[in-house]
Amino acid sequence: MNPAPYVGRFAPSPTGPLHLGSLVAALASWLDARAAGGRWLVRMEDLDRPRCSQAAADTLLRQLEVYGLTWDGAVLYQSQRDDAYAAALDALRSQGAVFACTCTRSQLAHAPRNAEGEIVYPGTCRLHPAPHSEHHAWRVRVENVSAHFVDRIHGALQQDLAAEVGDFVVKRADGLFAYQLAVVVDDAFQGVTQVVRGADLLWNTPRQIYLQGLLGLPTPAYAHVPLVTNAAGQKLSKQTLAPALPETGRRAVLAEALAALGHPSPPELLGTSPEQLLAWASAHWRIENVPTAPVVAKPAPAPDNPP
Ligand code: GLU
Ligand code: ZN
Repeated sequence: MNPAPYVGRFAPSPTGPLHLGSLVAALASWLDARAAGGRWLVRMEDLDRPRCSQAAADTLLRQLEVYGLTWDGAVLYQSQRDDAYAAALDALRSQGAVFACTCTRSQLAHAPRNAEGEIVYPGTCRLHPAPHSEHHAWRVRVENVSAHFVDRIHGALQQDLAAEVGDFVVKRADGLFAYQLAVVVDDAFQGVTQVVRGADLLWNTPRQIYLQGLLGLPTPAYAHVPLVTNAAGQKLSKQTLAPALPETGRRAVLAEALAALGHPSPPELLGTSPEQLLAWASAHWRIENVPTAPVVAKPAPAPDNPP
């Protein structure tokens, strides 16, 4: 039997332009797909409508094009997928796998937190159902499960979902579907077989595998690539004011992203075009060479002294 054909994806949230950290995730996913002769999809994770915009999505797509990361097929927008998420929530409800939660942020302020700083839900509304209220979240019941999975970069990992996560939100009290539900529904809908994404999502994976089990969806393979931090050790992001990718000097930026992925470009490729560098990288891509530890971004070059 042939294995399922490779389908990979890049799933940014259009809240701002791509920076070096998001380029590293996009590039790793693109290279892994291209090296396998697979398809590579782009999905806009614009569930959080107030924080996302079409203008930011357009900018992201333009940046991917400028950097040579071409995608296959139409871009999927999560803001247009509420019916699919509602159907998945119904399926969970009909199995009794979810319960209504009326806990407010301040009621949960003193709940224990896991190593990622996330609240471990103390089970309040599961144990004592709240009187009916319009404003409630839906949480999925987490039974005593020890989740095992193998990451292609980090190896075999294990998480005790009940102790380290607890019952988690699949639909928020403000009516927005949660990332965990949408990502699982859409990875299956798009036939994704290989998820390659940033290591900040490593410990979200057991939640996603758990939901796939409840919904009868296939589990793709996972690989989590290193985060890029600034000199202060903070993850590059809009919040830490990471600079947007420059439109000139693309080759140097791609070379820095490749080095972060454990694929330093050989000296004989100095002076080649960004396109040639990408062709070299897809021919030489070895996921086992990707490091697990975060990498620090080089300081931006002085504006009057471009590389
Ligand atoms: N939308 C998520 C982000 O921007 C990525 C989700 C995923 O790759 O599963 O960090
Ligand atoms: Zn609650």
